[in-house]
Amino acid sequence: MAETNQMEKIVSFCKRRGFIFPTSEIYGGLANSYSYGPYGVELKNNIKKMWWKKFVQKRPDIVGMDGPILLNSKLWEASGHTTGFNDAMVDCKKCQKRFRADHLVKELTGEDMEGELERMTQVLQTGLKCPECGKSDWTEVKKMSQMFSTEMNGVEGLIYLRPETAGAIFSDYKNIVDSMRVKIPFGVAQIGKAFRNEIVARNFIFRIREFEQMEIEYFIEPEAEWEVMFEKWLDEQEEFALSIGAKKEDLKRYEHPKAKLSHYSRKTVDTEYNFPFGFGELFGLAHRGDFDLSQHSKFSGQKLDYFDQTNNKRYTPHVLEPTVGLDRLILTAICAGYTEEKLENGEERTVLKFPNAVAPIKIAVFPLMKNKPELVEKARGIFENLSEQWMCEFDDNGNVGKRYRRQDEIGTPYCVTVDFESLEDGAVTVRDRDTMRQERIQIAELESYFGNKLN
Ligand code: ATP
Repeated sequence: MAETNQMEKIVSFCKRRGFIFPTSEIYGGLANSYSYGPYGVELKNNIKKMWWKKFVQKRPDIVGMDGPILLNSKLWEASGHTTGFNDAMVDCKKCQKRFRADHLVKELTGEDMEGELERMTQVLQTGLKCPECGKSDWTEVKKMSQMFSTEMNGVEGLIYLRPETAGAIFSDYKNIVDSMRVKIPFGVAQIGKAFRNEIVARNFIFRIREFEQMEIEYFIEPEAEWEVMFEKWLDEQEEFALSIGAKKEDLKRYEHPKAKLSHYSRKTVDTEYNFPFGFGELFGLAHRGDFDLSQHSKFSGQKLDYFDQTNNKRYTPHVLEPTVGLDRLILTAICAGYTEEKLENGEERTVLKFPNAVAPIKIAVFPLMKNKPELVEKARGIFENLSEQWMCEFDDNGNVGKRYRRQDEIGTPYCVTVDFESLEDGAVTVRDRDTMRQERIQIAELESYFGNKLN
C-alpha cells in the first residue's frame, strides 16, 4: 500500500508541478498516454543530452543517426516483427478486464511463463482469481501483435510505426559503413520514438504505447572476446543510471535464462530499477550474433558485411545491443530525486534532489519585491545574462520563502535573490537547494561561479 501511495504521490506531483500530464485530458484522456509539460520536456532533453554526450560525443567509436518512424515494411518482415512481435493476452469473462497473460500469471503464481501460452491457460484455469473482480472465468491465452499499422499514399499495403528504433540502424548500416570510414568495433546510436500496442499500459510512464528509446548497435568481430565488452556495457549502463541520480542499491541485473533466449541471442541481461511498484526493466543488453545483418541481407538481396583491411578478411559483424527507454529513465530520475524532508524548524518541504545536469531549471532569479523597479530591473538583467548559458527561471511572485519552496519542488539547484543591498554592494544572495545555505556573490562573478558549479 505504501508503494502505491508513493506512486500516486509522484503521478499527482508530476501533474501539479508541470512535469507530466495525462494527454488529451479535456476529451477524457487517451488510454494511459501522457504529455511532457514545460519542466518535463527540459528534463527529457537533459537526459537525452547526457546520454548523447556519454555515448556519442565522447566516444570516437560511436556515431549517431536519426531514422524515420515509418520504414519499408519489408524491414519488419526481415526482423521477424510482422509475425513474431506478440504478447500473450487473456480476458476475464466475468468483468471483461484484459490482462497481459505472462504478467498476470507471474503476479498470481510467482512463476515466469512468458511464451508458454498453453501452460498459462491451464494454470489460470486451475481456479486462479481475477485481481479485478475476484472471479475465476478466463478465456484462452492468445497472442496479440504489438505492431501499430497505418497506410501511406503511394505505398501498397500496410506500413508500421516502428516498434523499436534499431531497425533503421540495420537498414542504413551500409550507408554508414560507406560514408563514415568506421572501423570495427564501432557503434551506431539513435534516439527516437517507438510504438507498441501494449495489451495493458500501466505504471504511469513505465509502460506506455508511444515512448522513446535510446539504442546503440555495437558491431564487433565475430571472433572478438565479446564477454569482456558485454560486461563493460553493463557497467556503462549502470554508470549512466547513477549519473541521473539512481542509487546503486536500487539497481539490479537480471540475466535471461538460456532456455528463454531467442535462438540467435547468446546472452541478454536487463538492468532493473527499484520503482515504487517494484523492480522493472530499465536497460536491456543483448548479444544478437549476426542475426539482424544476415536477415536484412537475405531479405534485401544486398551485401551487409564488413571488410577488415588490417586482417584482410570479410565477415558479417556480430552485434551487441545496449538499449534503454527514455521515459523509464525519466521516471527513475523523478523517483530517485523525490524527497520529503522535515526541517529543523519543523517545516516540511518536498525537494527533487536532481543531479545538476538533470535539473530542468538550473538557476532561478528573484527580485526581493516585485513592486520595486530597481530590484526587478537588476534581476531581469541577471536573468538575461545567465540564461544565455543555462535554463533559468525569473520569478517575482509571492514571498521569497515560497519561491524557494517552489524551486526546491522542481529541483532547481540554485536561486539568486536581488535585494536592496545588491543596489549598494553589487552582490546577490545565492541559495543552495540541498544545504539551503546562502552566500553573497558579486553579480560580476556569477557567471564563473555557476560555470564551476554547473558545467
Ligand atoms: P518489457 O519486458 O518491459 O516489455 P522489453 O524487453 O520488451 O520491455 P525492449 O524491447 O528490450 O523492451 O525495449 C528496450 C527498452 O525500451 C526497454 O529496456 C525499456 O526501457 C523500453 N520500453 C520497452 N517497452 C516500453 C514501453 N511500453 N513503455 C516505455 N518504455 C518501454
